[in-house]
Amino acid sequence: MIVVTGATGNLGTLVVEGLIEQVPAQEIAVVVRDAAKAARLGERGVEVRQADYDDPASLTGAFREGEKVLLISGSEVGRRVPQHKAVVDAAKDAKVALLAYTSVLGGPAADFELAREHQLTERYIIDSGLPYTLLRNGWYHEVYTGAIGQAVAAGGLLTSAAEGARVASAARADYAAAAVAVLTGEGHENAEYELSGDEAWTFEEYAAELSRRLGKEIPVNRVPAEKHREILLGAGVPDTFAPILVGIDEAISRGFLAVQTGDLARLIGRPTTPIADAIARAVDQA
Ligand code: NDP
Repeated sequence: MIVVTGATGNLGTLVVEGLIEQVPAQEIAVVVRDAAKAARLGERGVEVRQADYDDPASLTGAFREGEKVLLISGSEVGRRVPQHKAVVDAAKDAKVALLAYTSVLGGPAADFELAREHQLTERYIIDSGLPYTLLRNGWYHEVYTGAIGQAVAAGGLLTSAAEGARVASAARADYAAAAVAVLTGEGHENAEYELSGDEAWTFEEYAAELSRRLGKEIPVNRVPAEKHREILLGAGVPDTFAPILVGIDEAISRGFLAVQTGDLARLIGRPTTPIADAIARAVDQA
């Protein structure tokens, strides 16, 4: 049995669809906090198990011996270490055969705030003694293409990353395909994959492609870090999260999100999705 947590989220949905293409639905289970959101999967033969990362008792019985489990990192920044630990504890108690985890590009080397919870989770997983696979995901294209509306409304692409800094992002679907490859393949025990796109773009290149696609000039609005924080706060970003977002651009300036190992293309057996394709898709869907 292959088990996917966070299966009703964006990445989890793509992972489960990818799994259904390769293995019978009856060999797939999802662990979700809201079973109603997974009702359609249940109708298609996927086993739906209800559990909340915040409720360790609910995770008892979420996994069974010998299963391959994908822990999709939670979305509630600041709460994820105890949440993830609860999932690891449950997986360990159940004696699962493999625990794969969606971590962050760079793993222990990543020096920005958002990476911290992933690093603590990685350490906890390794120390659990379970066979594991670390899927160290770089940035999703969708982090940027999902903000096209804001860039258009603001008349520019806001960043405090240094000029010339690059981002080796890939489509969320590429990262999902990598997870599917690990869950359906063999020989990924105790492997650490640094996953990122084949192409590393600058904000100028991204803005040029976006402008071309929109038929409208969207310049880069490069501001100092402090100004970036102020703008984010003014736009309603919580004061706990704004510095984290600014910290990401600082990490981009230091090259942390431009790391390219080729692991992602190798795992999925094809080139990663070009950023231009992701921009085209987002603009067409808008
Ligand atoms: P989503 O926010 O779409 O999905 C998060 C999933 O986690 C959802 O299914 C959500 O459940 C589930 N979840 C959150 N909290 C709990 C909880 N307490 N108990 C059980 N399940 C929970 O994010 P994505 O799918 O896009 O991305 C997956 C993860 O990757 C994110 O959670 C985040 O850690 C990380 N991420 C990575 C990015 C990158 O660029 N590499 C960008 C953004 C996030 P529900 O469906 O009920 O809400």
